[in-house]
Order: sequence, then structure tokens, then C-alpha cells
Amino acid sequence: MRARVIGEADVLRLVDLLRQDRQVIAPFCGRGRDSYFDVVTDVNRDRIRLHVPNPLYPPKRYVLPHIERLMRMRRSAAGLWNFQPDYAETPLALFGVRSCDVAGVRHLDRFYLGREYVDAYYERRRRNLFVVNMVCTDPEVDIDDNCFCVCADTGPAARDAFDLQLMDLGGGEYLAVAGTAAGEDLFSAPFFRPATAAHVERRRAILTEVRGRFRSTTSWFAATVRYISRGDVLDKTWEEIGNRCLECGACTFVCPACTCFTVSDRRTGKEEYERVRMWDSCALKGFTRMAGGFNPRRAVHDRRNRRFFRKLAHYFIQRELSMACVGCGRCAAVCHGDVGMPSVVEMIRRATAIAAPPLDESSTVPSAKVTA
Ligand code: SF4
Ligand code: SF4
Repeated sequence: MRARVIGEADVLRLVDLLRQDRQVIAPFCGRGRDSYFDVVTDVNRDRIRLHVPNPLYPPKRYVLPHIERLMRMRRSAAGLWNFQPDYAETPLALFGVRSCDVAGVRHLDRFYLGREYVDAYYERRRRNLFVVNMVCTDPEVDIDDNCFCVCADTGPAARDAFDLQLMDLGGGEYLAVAGTAAGEDLFSAPFFRPATAAHVERRRAILTEVRGRFRSTTSWFAATVRYISRGDVLDKTWEEIGNRCLECGACTFVCPACTCFTVSDRRTGKEEYERVRMWDSCALKGFTRMAGGFNPRRAVHDRRNRRFFRKLAHYFIQRELSMACVGCGRCAAVCHGDVGMPSVVEMIRRATAIAAPPLDESSTVPSAKVTA
């Protein structure tokens, strides 16, 4: 482990160091429980929060913007079209990203970069991104009842996809762990001190203690993944889930692991257009509507069914090497119908297990023959 120690008072100097050659995005607190990510400026720099309630809007938008222009299209007087791609190359640092959101970026990486087609727009943003993970250690502030990173195996400390990881050891000290060469380069700054075996041991003890603070450390994911993958979930269970969905789309828009988008062209001048990409949501009726007007998933339960199949079915887990859920709990926090991920996993497990036929003799494994 390439680790150093940094004093709490010097963490802002680390932010200043990052700001020398890139824009830095960090978490802030608003009114009450409200928290958000924003660009760090000279004005707000002192208000950066190291421990912060989970911002409902994840930092995903800095690597996959809610709306982004992909290209400009112009027609010349001679009638020829000119296509000008619009790539974002601004170096960016995401500072203070919790581990579930780091796993969310990792999931986006596998979707947009990990297969036969590489998304050139995402790839440029990602190449210019520096990620500073903050381990959630304060149970009063960082962790709430909706968090289940321990069940999703993404936290409380990220294991990869960060450049630098900070963890509050208490007593005004933070342990900094480098995840990449770029992260390790920062250790040449004078405010980093060598870490000792005692610091690493303190990290281990804190993580053990924090894991025990989660309300539930038992996951029903395994059973639900199996039921969804085998098509065992009853139609009436999907209908019950669908009946509780108000089709607002909030669960998808706050999800750090949702990847869906739509593309649209819009006129910007007489002979000028721009092509934009924007997040889309499987919760919305138009998501699967085809050009001729036919919609194979008109019923809301068909679309909810699709959301959880996409997130939990074995086919996708095998393809992307993870569930498309990182355990951030945001969908549980925003859903008016209480059909966020934890509730749905529990509803499916309970309903499917109860409906399963009891074991009979023919379904048991025959016992081995004992010979003298
Ligand atoms: S947040 Fe809840 S009500 Fe809104 S679309 Fe998602 S599941 Fe439906
Ligand atoms: S499905 Fe819900 S809990 Fe899972 S990553 Fe998305 S918003 Fe977070």
C-alpha cells in the first residue's frame, strides 16, 4: 500500500495543489441535510466538507453530463455538410467522492469503455479525470439508513478506480493511499508525512468498526439475482412493484450506475444544428417507444421489470463484472412509492421464496449408497 499521512489542516492545501492545473469539484453542505457537489472557487474553498451527508445528485454528471453537445453540424452555401465533434478536454478532479460513487464511475467505465465500442466523448472526460475518494467513517454524518455499500461490496473504502484515497484516522490525521501513479506523484508535496504500521493498523480497526455500524450487513442480493436471472419472479410481483411507481424517473436520475441516454438533434441557426446527448430513464413511458409509435413496454411494470433485470440479471453481471447497483441508497431516498433497490430486492426475495414449490423427494439429492 503506497500510503502517507496528511494533517486535517493541510487537506485544503491538497485541494489548492489540485487546483493548480485542473478544475476541482468537491462536496458542500446547503441548508439542513442538503448537500451537493460544486466547482471549488476562491470564495467557497473554505466551505468544502470532508464529512457530508450523501448528496442526492451524484458526481456522475461530471464524467457523463446530464446534457452534452456531441457535435455541431453546418451546411455551407454549396450545400455541403460540415460535422464538428465537440469534445470536453478540461482536466477535472473529483474531490471527496464517497466509495459507492467511485464504484459508480467504475461501472460507467465498463459500460462506455470496456467493450468493443469505446465512447469517444466519455473516454476524453475520463482520461482527464482525477478521483479523490473519501472513505465514509463518520456514522453520524456520512452513513445513513439507506446506505448499503457493504452489501453491494463497494465500500466503505473503495478498492480501485481512484487516484487518491483519504481516510479520517481521528486526531486530526488523514491516511492518504495512492491508487495510481498520478496519485502517488502528489506525495512529493511537503505536507505529506510517511505513514507508519500504526497508521495502517488504525485504518484496519476503523474499517472493521464502521462496517459494524451499517444497519444491515446481510444482503438478499444473491437470492434476488438468482430469481431474476432464472425468470422466477411472478408477474404479480412485478405488477405490485409497477403499481407503486409514479413514473417520475427520479430513481434513474440519481443513480450513479445508470447509463442510459438518448440523442437528439436541434436547430441552432438557419443552416446550423447541434447533436446533444442527454440522460434518459427507463421509468418514462417514451423510453421504449419506437419510431412508428409502437411501445413494447407501455405498462409501467414492464419498465420496472426491465430496470431491475438490467441491474441484477446474471447476463449483465457477467458482461460488466458487477451489478449495476453500487449500494448508494439514493433511489430509496427519493422514491415516493418505496420501490427503491432495497425494497424491491426484499419484495422479490420474499414473494418468490414463498411462491416456490416445497421440496419433494424427487428434488432431493439421492444419498450415497453405503456398502459393507
Ligand atoms: S423514483 Fe420511484 S416512483 Fe419515481 S420512477 Fe423511480 S421507482 Fe418510480
Ligand atoms: S439502484 Fe439505487 S441504490 Fe443502487 S446504485 Fe442506483 S440509486 Fe444507488
